[in-house]
Amino acid sequence: MTDYRTFTTDDAMRFADEHSGLFGDHSKLSCEEFGDGNLNLVFRVINDKGTSLIVKQALPYARCVGESWPLTIERARIEAEVLLKHRKLCPDHTVEVLHYDAALAAILMEDLKDYRILRTELVAGKQFLHLAPQLATYLANTLYYTSDFALTGPNKKQQVGQFLNPELCLITEDLFFTDPYCNHERNNIHSEIRNDALQLWHDEALQAEVAQLKAGFLSQPQALLHGDVHTGSIFINDENCKLIDAEFGFYGPIGFDVGSLTGNLLLNYLGHFGLTQDTETRQRHQDYLLSQVQTLWQEFEKQFKQLMSNECREPTLQNSLYQQRFIQQVFRDTLGYAGCELIRRTVGLAHVADLDSISDGTLRGQSERKALKLGRELILQRNELAGIDQVLTLVRYLQN
Ligand code: ADP
Ligand code: MG
Repeated sequence: MTDYRTFTTDDAMRFADEHSGLFGDHSKLSCEEFGDGNLNLVFRVINDKGTSLIVKQALPYARCVGESWPLTIERARIEAEVLLKHRKLCPDHTVEVLHYDAALAAILMEDLKDYRILRTELVAGKQFLHLAPQLATYLANTLYYTSDFALTGPNKKQQVGQFLNPELCLITEDLFFTDPYCNHERNNIHSEIRNDALQLWHDEALQAEVAQLKAGFLSQPQALLHGDVHTGSIFINDENCKLIDAEFGFYGPIGFDVGSLTGNLLLNYLGHFGLTQDTETRQRHQDYLLSQVQTLWQEFEKQFKQLMSNECREPTLQNSLYQQRFIQQVFRDTLGYAGCELIRRTVGLAHVADLDSISDGTLRGQSERKALKLGRELILQRNELAGIDQVLTLVRYLQN
């Protein structure tokens, strides 16, 4: 990485200017670094006519911790290549990458300035009816067309190799599946729920199921995942939504992406017990969230099934009974990984504003306890829950 240097705002401006036709010789450029993410530098470069682009650069360490946590800048390649591939498969809902430079670990991309971050909007109680249908389309298309149903064996294996991403996968393996279930120093546990966390560390039945889910994450290259589909990686406005930040992408189990998103919608649902005091307003928002969870699965399942039955060219995998079993397994995985997301966002290193921004400590503790409980039940009951409607019944039942 001889040519690598950390960008200043001037470097970011030059990079954007060099690799886009938007600016031209005579326009005045300005630039600010404004990334609020955990790992990378994010610059906005803007010309005097208000046209802007984003430059994202990977640092050789994790930004939120500093140089004591070294991290490969290869993650910029993974991010650029996953986004380029997903954009081909689902152009409407994937941010556009304009240029990627391997030596500088820098990506030039579309500025989603007319969009807002979904998590912030959901915490504020905003509702978008297009959320679940559009994200189901994104997930069905990106996951189907990178799976064995769509790719030949040799092509699939070449891509699995292209997207191994061992360092970032290890972060997920640790933070998602290991830390929350032991007294790990990286955990971040609110004092109100200390005892509940302690129970997790002694819950062998739960740990056995989490081990199975982790084994699936480690050993099932089903499709090219985004790898980090939380509501902070989704930009939304009144018409559309788009995914960003695919640096955790790799070939893994399909249910991991669907489950991460489902888990994040449920975290918002539980957060509103503490965020919204007015019962009617809260009820309305929570009903909305559950209907989105339902639509997300129903639409995803419908589209993925249609793709399997209409597009699959691999004779053995055309078997309809096999396809039925496959989607049922994806459903169970989805519930399991959603459960893991609920637990790790409550007691693990990386929290979410849906819970952390509840200002009253007691109310926050109550929502956090609900998240641990629901997470546990989803993981333990995932093989018995017969469909998404039963899942919603369980979610409602646990709140009484
Ligand atoms: P990290 O990988 O470091 O978490 P993200 O990709 O999540 O970084 O980006 C961090 C922040 O930068 C986002 O939350 C958003 O505010 C901003 N950002 C990133 N990409 C874009 C984009 N294409 N358009 C507008 N803002 C962006
Ligand atoms: Mg990121």
